[in-house]
Amino acid sequence: MNDLPRIGLGIDVHRLAPGRPCMVAGIRFDAEVGPLGHSDGDAVLHAACDAVLGAAGLDDLGTLFSDRDPANHDRPSADFCRATMDQVRQKGLRVLSLDCVLETEVPKLKPQRQAMRERLAALFALPADRVNIKGKTGEKVDAIGRGEAMRATVVALLGPA
Ligand code: MG
Repeated sequence: MNDLPRIGLGIDVHRLAPGRPCMVAGIRFDAEVGPLGHSDGDAVLHAACDAVLGAAGLDDLGTLFSDRDPANHDRPSADFCRATMDQVRQKGLRVLSLDCVLETEVPKLKPQRQAMRERLAALFALPADRVNIKGKTGEKVDAIGRGEAMRATVVALLGPA
């Protein structure tokens, strides 16, 4: 039954460390800390891929791209999005909408919000007005509130291509 809409959820956490490039939703932010990771650590793109893969009933990102594979070391997460979309198209599906929440103390997302929406729209082949991204602080609570980590949560809706 490929004609019914499918929903998927992706969640990803990365620790923050000084001197790492700060990649969020495919946009590089000017910040003193950035996400630690085997790849570029882009939590929003990782969560978005997992949401889309989940909705399509496909293997998750960690299965497709192992963090033990040297080929994925410092790899741009945009590559993972392209591979995800290849698989989605092969199943006769497309992404209808993405809704993203990033919980973090740094960076402040607001100045780049539109740029992130447009980048996500380009990577997942949908109009920018069907992509949303919201920033939340951790309210000084837990590892996110202390600025030690960021967490992205993404819901994706897919439908027939
Ligand atoms: Mg990740």
